[in-house]
Amino acid sequence: METFDVIIVGARCAGAPLAKALTDRGLRVCVLDKATFPSDTPSTSALQSNGVDVLRRLGMLDRVLAAGPPVMRSVTTVSPHSTFTLDVDPQTYGMTLGVTRTMLDAALVESAAHVGADVRVGSAVKGVIVEAGRVVGVRTASGDLYAGLVVGADGRNSTVAASVGASEYCSRAAGRLPTWSIYEGADIEAGFFFGARSRPGGGTTGFLGTPLDGGRFLAAAAVPIDVGQSFLKDRYRNFDIELELFPELAEATRDATRVGPLRVLQRWHSYFRTSAGPGWVLVGDAGNFKDYSLGQGMSDAMRQAETLAAAVELGFETNRIDAHTRRWWRWRDQDAWQMYWTNCLIGEPYLPEALADAIFEPGARDPEVALRLAGILNKTIPPLRAVPTGAFLTATARTTGALIAGSAQHPRHALRQARALASMARFTAGLVVNHPSGPVGATRYGRSPRSAPSVTATTLP
Ligand SMILES: Cc1cc2nc3c(=O)[nH]c(=O)nc-3n(C[C@H](O)[C@H](O)[C@H](O)COP(=O)(O)OP(=O)(O)OC[C@H]3O[C@@H](n4cnc5c(N)ncnc54)[C@H](O)[C@@H]3O)c2cc1C
Repeated sequence: METFDVIIVGARCAGAPLAKALTDRGLRVCVLDKATFPSDTPSTSALQSNGVDVLRRLGMLDRVLAAGPPVMRSVTTVSPHSTFTLDVDPQTYGMTLGVTRTMLDAALVESAAHVGADVRVGSAVKGVIVEAGRVVGVRTASGDLYAGLVVGADGRNSTVAASVGASEYCSRAAGRLPTWSIYEGADIEAGFFFGARSRPGGGTTGFLGTPLDGGRFLAAAAVPIDVGQSFLKDRYRNFDIELELFPELAEATRDATRVGPLRVLQRWHSYFRTSAGPGWVLVGDAGNFKDYSLGQGMSDAMRQAETLAAAVELGFETNRIDAHTRRWWRWRDQDAWQMYWTNCLIGEPYLPEALADAIFEPGARDPEVALRLAGILNKTIPPLRAVPTGAFLTATARTTGALIAGSAQHPRHALRQARALASMARFTAGLVVNHPSGPVGATRYGRSPRSAPSVTATTLP
């Protein structure tokens, strides 16, 4: 019987740093991934500086930097009626990188293997093994493996989450359809772009552009999800049409050659999942996936891996592993909820443009405000502190005014915007009430922690 201290399912942004951190702490770790490396995975590839900082602290950064990923020095942010470019000095703002996932994930896996984690790639986990109501291991095609803790770092379609029946909470439907292309020969000096522009048919398209390692460049365009199917009928042509709404991006890729197909992610939604129970814990996308608009998923997975490693070490030392993974889950929720909400807000394509303008225009006028907004991206400022109450009140007043004026001129657009606002308001209220960090949720969590589901399945069908 093969036994480890910890088995980690999934070896990318969450799994590999966790494997490295736990191995460095002297634990016997086995990390399994059904993929082999190098290999790609859906991502628009901007790695925020707080994730880079984790890699530095864990001793994994040098291997990534050896591939020469570009360091962002400017961020151009666009809302429907304003644009501002911010110079981000890596010395003071931190190092934001453009990384292909083929390069990054392989470097992370190599780092974990280098320090002695037992890395098994091309090895799919079929489900967890449960004894007396506790997860004690995993089933793989080449046999059963046992451990004191099983970690699901296996992404959105997590096998571990499904095996233990982890339920979702505070979820939100997809706002836009992400599509992206990688180019060779693009203007990689053009810098890093993100934002949204108004579409002729109503709503906004989200954009992102980032230079990558290997002299490549990634451009992404995300149309509202309800026009996604018609977009996909002629996806290459429509992608180029959407890029023209964002001339800076269209210009950067104009004479470039697309490498590989246009990538699309059709089925996704934002969620939290119950993330700890007897003998198991979920980290990274397996436990929380947020709209990708602000490019936070990789750095969140890395930060979570770092803090989870500390919780696991303490859990084994004190013989209270379940208590510590449960406490870590609460930290994860508190850490995540503001950014989760912000991503859902930015990812909603039918909110009145006046709302985005009211938030972003002050940034275009005042470099101090712009820097605060950029602080949201690298997590130095919580979103609700970066945008002052006055700006929210102005945004509300301008949004209401715009809706009233718009209802006479474009009643259909105004109705759709009003619906989007109402849906966002309902979602926000649900987040405040049901989330452990919300005022009501915090009390509820304190009195009676959300119970982990009982584990019945031993393997997935
Ligand atoms: C369209 C899009 C754009 C994005 N853009 C950005 C961005 O610009 N910046 C950013 O920071 N984040 C971005 N993200 C988010 C980011 O890609 C994820 O948050 C990040 O990859 C999460 O890492 P993870 O390790 O938790 O999961 P994943 O990267 O999903 O890795 C999970 C691993 O588990 C393995 N696995 C799954 N099931 C099994 C099994 N049964 N057995 C064995 N192995 C298994 C998979 O093979 C995979 O390798 C984006 C996401 C999307 C969808």
